Amino acid sequence: MRTDPARDLLIDGKLCPAAGGARFDVLDPATGTVITSVARAGPPDVDAAVAASRAALGAREWAGLRPPDRGRILLRIAGEIRARSRELAMLESLDVGKPLREAYADVEAAARYFEFYGGVADKYGGTTIPLGPGLLDYTLREPIGVSGQIIPFNYPLQNTARGSAPALAVGCAVVLKPSPEAPLSPLAIGLLALDCGLPPGVLNVVPGDATAGAALAGHPGIDQVTFTGSVATGVNVARSAAANVVPAVLELGGKSPVIVFADADFELALPAVAASVFGNAGQTCSAGTRLIVERDAGEFVERLVAHARELTLGPGLDDPDIGPLISARQRDRAEGYLGLARSDGAAVLTGGGRPSDPALASGFYLEPTVLSGLASDHPVNREEVFGPVLSVLEFADAAEALRIANDTPYGLASYVWTRNIDAALGVAGSLKAGQVYVNARGVGTGVELPFGGYKRSGWGREKGLETLASYSQVKNVCVGFDAGF
Ligand code: NAD
Repeated sequence: MRTDPARDLLIDGKLCPAAGGARFDVLDPATGTVITSVARAGPPDVDAAVAASRAALGAREWAGLRPPDRGRILLRIAGEIRARSRELAMLESLDVGKPLREAYADVEAAARYFEFYGGVADKYGGTTIPLGPGLLDYTLREPIGVSGQIIPFNYPLQNTARGSAPALAVGCAVVLKPSPEAPLSPLAIGLLALDCGLPPGVLNVVPGDATAGAALAGHPGIDQVTFTGSVATGVNVARSAAANVVPAVLELGGKSPVIVFADADFELALPAVAASVFGNAGQTCSAGTRLIVERDAGEFVERLVAHARELTLGPGLDDPDIGPLISARQRDRAEGYLGLARSDGAAVLTGGGRPSDPALASGFYLEPTVLSGLASDHPVNREEVFGPVLSVLEFADAAEALRIANDTPYGLASYVWTRNIDAALGVAGSLKAGQVYVNARGVGTGVELPFGGYKRSGWGREKGLETLASYSQVKNVCVGFDAGF
């Protein structure tokens, strides 16, 4: 087994430098220092990766496998991810800056994706359609072909597994372009998959920036795109896919509401609400960033603020409560929103800037921050801050809670906390979001649950069984016959 972090492109089963020899530095977000350098894919490398995928897609070693054998490779990958959990968690924590225990949870989620879809490989098939005597009609689900996958910086390990496992389960080949800010774990998974018997070229990994992403999204050799990232980039990716008439799954941003009624179980809700917005230093698409709290539930806000004040900050590998943000750019962007909030009269209930601890000065840290007093249409309540920043809004009744909750261009996740079943189900039915959690935040690793956005949070669904449709084509076969008797 290979254990060194891979630093080159993974194309056709081999590590290779970029065609032009370009590289980029990968920084440790906890210190701002260079961890390593990684080959930077450009358009010629994307061409090579797509060519390798196309060849692998049609080769007997992959196309000729029976579904249970395909599934077994995925299950072996799941097992190997678990066997190497420490190494992978440390790599993810170092590269992204996330607390080690969160990185371990990401490793388990990655293993679960391969396990879940490995188990599905021999169970996902077509149907027969009754047409009467002399006709047999059946559908086949064929792999759509080469899937181009572009992922962001915040959950590279999970996102690698989330897109590639279902695509591979159905029999596709994949070209994956990780973010230049977090390329290490996707490369590690690509190598690990080879070790588990995935044929060369079936999963190619080409870290690079927007140029490589655009080259992949618009490549005439791909049959489908799965994009996870910001709305602005998603729009460009969708345009490129449209020009080639290939489908795109878009997993975009969020501004997820957390509705807390006064009758909620605060003990249960409090750690979940805090983890949702402060986990991964707030860099989570589904983070509950708007706390919409019933007017009589001020105690909940007080307890949450007290909880936030106790949270520790530090390098991910020290396993604090909150690690650094991914980059100075991301930290500065989030700080810009804090400045705007202040100048628009927000009350800063806790946090509000960089930590004063000199030991953290060179890292990209922000304190966990709770704001209140901003109108529902303020940019902090409508745009992604993508930092550990929670904004508190108040409601008088369920109708007002819903109005505030839906007052955003996004619709990814949403959370409701109440003991009142009528309020819970009524609100859940009216929230414009792809996922609603009632008295829960995530269930296990959530691999089984369809995930995706309403409104500007995206198109299509990942996770669950729903995502399999994105990686398959339905072919209908209609056969006329004369049995002769
Ligand atoms: P981003 O849009 O800047 O980049 C995402 C990926 O697209 C990166 O790999 C980047 O290199 C690539 N890219 C950039 N320009 C491109 C172009 N013109 N064509 C093709 N690819 C291009 O996003 P980010 O800052 O890396 O990640 C944060 C965003 O991702 C947030 O908006 C967050 O909500 C979103 N996100 C969504 C989900 C989800 O499942 N819905 C999950 C995680 C993150």
